[in-house]
Parts: sequence; C-alpha cells; structure tokens
Amino acid sequence: MTQHQTKLDILEAGRRLYQNGYIVSSDGNVSARIDEDRVIATPTGLCKGTLKMEDLCICDMDGNLVSGRLKPSSEIGMHLFLYRERPDIKAVVHAHPPTATGFSVAGIPLTDCVLPEVIITVGSIPIAKYGTPGGPEISEPIRQYVKDYDAYLLENHGATTVGSDVMNAYFKMETMEHFAKILFVAKQLGGVNVLDNEQVGKLLQIRDRLGIKGPNPACDIPPSSPVTSQKGIPTVRTKSAGGTTPATGQKGAASNDTLVDEIARQVMKQLTRT
Ligand SMILES: [Zn+2]
Repeated sequence: MTQHQTKLDILEAGRRLYQNGYIVSSDGNVSARIDEDRVIATPTGLCKGTLKMEDLCICDMDGNLVSGRLKPSSEIGMHLFLYRERPDIKAVVHAHPPTATGFSVAGIPLTDCVLPEVIITVGSIPIAKYGTPGGPEISEPIRQYVKDYDAYLLENHGATTVGSDVMNAYFKMETMEHFAKILFVAKQLGGVNVLDNEQVGKLLQIRDRLGIKGPNPACDIPPSSPVTSQKGIPTVRTKSAGGTTPATGQKGAASNDTLVDEIARQVMKQLTRT
C-alpha cells in the first residue's frame, strides 16, 4: 500500500470513528507503521473526524517528529509500544466507543463466545488495567495481552485495536462496539446464550480457512476441561457469566448450529467482499 493511500485510510478511519460516536471532541488516535523506522499518526488536539492530509504527522520509533507541522497524538507512546511488541501489525486505532467503554468502566470484559463474527475476527476482548492516559503508564497493563489479542478494553478509558492495516484495525473497533451493544441488550433482556466448544471450533476452522491472520484466543481455557484443537486452532471453552443460559439439549444445540452456519456464511460473504 502506498503512503498516500495509508494517509487516506487514516483520514477515513478518523471520519468514521467520529461519525459513529466512537470519539468526540479531540479524542482518539490512529496510526500506521510505514517502515521499520517511521509511523504516520494523527495529531494531538484536533478533531479526528475532520482531519486533512496536511494535519498528519510522521514520527520515528522514539516519537520524534520527522515531518508534519503538528505534534503527534499524546498516545503515540502506546502506539509505538504496540509496534515494538508486535512487528506483525501495521496499524493501531484508539477510541472511546461508549458501549464498549461502559463495559470497561463496569469491569466486564468481552470474553464470552457469543457472536460468530466476533469469534472469527477479533476473538476475546480483555480489559487492561487502568493507566494514566498520555504517558508510559498506559502501556504497561497492556503488556500481558499484546501478543495474544488484537483488541482490548482499557479500564475506565476506552479501547484499542491493532491490525494488518488501518481499515483492518478500524473494523475491529467497529466489531467490538457492535458486540458490546448486542451483549448489553442481551443482558438487559435477561441472559446471554454462550456458544459451546463445538460451535466455536467450527467458527475457528472458518477463520483458518479464510486465512485470517493474527492471534485469536477466542475464549478462556478452563484447566479442568481442555479441548484439543485441530490444525493450530486455539482451544476454547464456553462459560456462563452472570445471567448466562448455556445452550442445552439436542434440539437447542441443533438450532444453534443452523444459526451459526448461516451467520458464518454471512460473515464469509462480507469478508470476501472487503
Ligand atoms: Zn483515550
């Protein structure tokens, strides 16, 4: 991808973050690594929904400005930390999507295996402990998740996603917020039906077939009931969080299977389109 296209994608991601209400005012930041030593980043202090090409900064891996007339994001340190820890990623998106951030404030991680498109794309979404925004403190709590997760909530703050390019990282943010909204509604309605091991295993096989790269830890692994994965597919489990009603009985499992297959088809259609 050309540097010009990467910049256009950063502007587009900023517009979408703002239009979707994932950021307000001058919140949020987006960056892309363009080579070993340089990162394009959104500037500090401006609304990311209305940025122009000339507002973008290029800085080195120590955060020093290489080109541009504005200072890079105050969270550039977190972005650079992520690039150092994950040489495979090329973009980072940080925002404050209200529903997902609400889960981070309530201390509820998005780790249940509930929606096929989430399992296939971002997988499990943990909460990294609080660190003061704008400084090195914010990065340390992420360290334990950085190798295995592409999306994390930041306690009492917001969310960060990483990806193979800017739009890939942006779409993970969209998926996270959509998941949080659906989960919130399900909890309001009285319960969350969690997919079982077999259902999740099939979704991970689809992920594998689609060649979706990057870690996907899916659900936590219980020490008591490990399930062997196939062909590098992560081991998964289902669990019942507060108010959760796991699928039980042959009938329920069969209808869930059909539903999952159908949703998986839709997900595959969308993924192959983009
Ligand atoms: Zn923030």
